[in-house]
Amino acid sequence: WAAGYCQEDGQLGRVRMDPLADTLQRLREAFRAGRTRPAEFRAAQLKGLSRFLQENKQLLQEALAEDLHKSPFESEVSEISIGQDEINKALRNLHAWMKDEKVSKNLATQLDSAFIRKEPFGLVLIIAPWNYPVNLTLVPLVGALAAGNCVVLKPSEISKSTEKVLAEVLPRYLDQSCFAVVLGGPAETGRLLERKFDYIFFTGSPRVGRVVMTAAAQHLTPVTLELGGKNPCYVDDSCDPQTVANRVAFFRFFNAGQTCVAPDYVLCSPATQERLLPALQRAIASFYGEDPQRSPSLGRIVSDRHFRRVQALLCCGRVAIGGQSDERDRYIAPTVLVDVKETEPVMQEEIFGPVLPIVNVGSVDEAIEFIGRREKPLALYAFSSSSQVVRRVLAGTSSGGFCGNDGFMHMTLASLPFGGVGASGMGRYHGKFSFDTFSHHRACLLRAPGLEKIYSVRYPPYSPGKLRLL
Ligand code: NAD
Repeated sequence: WAAGYCQEDGQLGRVRMDPLADTLQRLREAFRAGRTRPAEFRAAQLKGLSRFLQENKQLLQEALAEDLHKSPFESEVSEISIGQDEINKALRNLHAWMKDEKVSKNLATQLDSAFIRKEPFGLVLIIAPWNYPVNLTLVPLVGALAAGNCVVLKPSEISKSTEKVLAEVLPRYLDQSCFAVVLGGPAETGRLLERKFDYIFFTGSPRVGRVVMTAAAQHLTPVTLELGGKNPCYVDDSCDPQTVANRVAFFRFFNAGQTCVAPDYVLCSPATQERLLPALQRAIASFYGEDPQRSPSLGRIVSDRHFRRVQALLCCGRVAIGGQSDERDRYIAPTVLVDVKETEPVMQEEIFGPVLPIVNVGSVDEAIEFIGRREKPLALYAFSSSSQVVRRVLAGTSSGGFCGNDGFMHMTLASLPFGGVGASGMGRYHGKFSFDTFSHHRACLLRAPGLEKIYSVRYPPYSPGKLRLL
């Protein structure tokens, strides 16, 4: 089974992979008929999404708690309210975003009309991961619907409870001639990717990103790849250690460290490390109590496979804080590792768990050099009481996004593009960037039918006199 949801006879029901062709066909026909183009239709879909969030808030919170032991607070700030903000922004700006964009003209086109028209691509596939399973399905969906596309949504099969809500409840709030949820893991998604889509928006690991891009290449389908990586966090000697420790611990251990933009490791001098360790210990105790396993605020690792992978990383370097784990409820304590070597697994792969290695560097230049030797990260953080140092790290490195003196606050601004660079991905979204991502920017020039006398100057034969006119 790669279950899809369709409404062939007014009933929601599971369909086999073969009827997937019918579902895609139905979406394509709706698109060709122009159903998704009017602003009123798009606004109605966005309002449907908004009602879905409002009316099913509790159901979503329960599903997120089942999947990730996510607290209502984390569910609200990082999943539901982010989705709602994006919907509100799209509804407020829809007409402005859809408007043709007038452009400047040259001498030869002074009398013409030149503009960029934002057109929907057509049939869009959105593939989502499990770590923010509401946010990372709905936020791209807002952009795709606002831009007037038909959408196939493939949620992650790993966050099972949320997947169920997205598959069984969400379609009731959208026009099902233009929207379908398709379920499945790697095998089914692989088969889905064999079909032709007009745009693919993928969020997930760099490994699967390559699979998606290879499949898309067969149809020359454009892609956005929102991938992961290791996000460095440089801390210089001038910082107040407790402030840095609070901020780094909060953003590292949020969602049990399963955040693509979490600070993945700290780079600092040995002296700063000595000041940071007791401050991190205090921050962890004040956030999660003396026994973090009993804290309702700390999430859990999503699956047994991921638990074993993160647990294995605890053997790297030396445990300075935490280090406990309990397979029965996939608990890993907020952990800080020191004396970590660059060649150890914890410094080779994205950690995606509540584990923070500290690597010593002698100077800001050494930190910049260390970061430059590695793949470009999705996010980069620099802490210093000197804005010059922060700006030096910014200027000396490259990353999808950057935040000075805090964690991933930059991604809370829909006015900033969100996306990776190099191995951390390609393309961008959030706010108007989402609308633009899901729109083809069509170059249009409307010329006057007359004026042939003037235009005929360009025709052969090309006399020397014509050359002088240029
Ligand atoms: P993943 O790549 O394993 O899976 C993502 C999606 O791809 C899922 O829907 C899954 O069903 C599908 N999939 C998995 N294997 C596949 C295959 N072989 N062929 C086709 N489809 C396949 O990622 P994940 O474990 O769900 O999420 C964690 C990763 O996602 C991390 O690397 C993290 O950094 C990244 N991530 C990135 C962002 C971002 O915005 N850049 C956000 C969240 C997570």
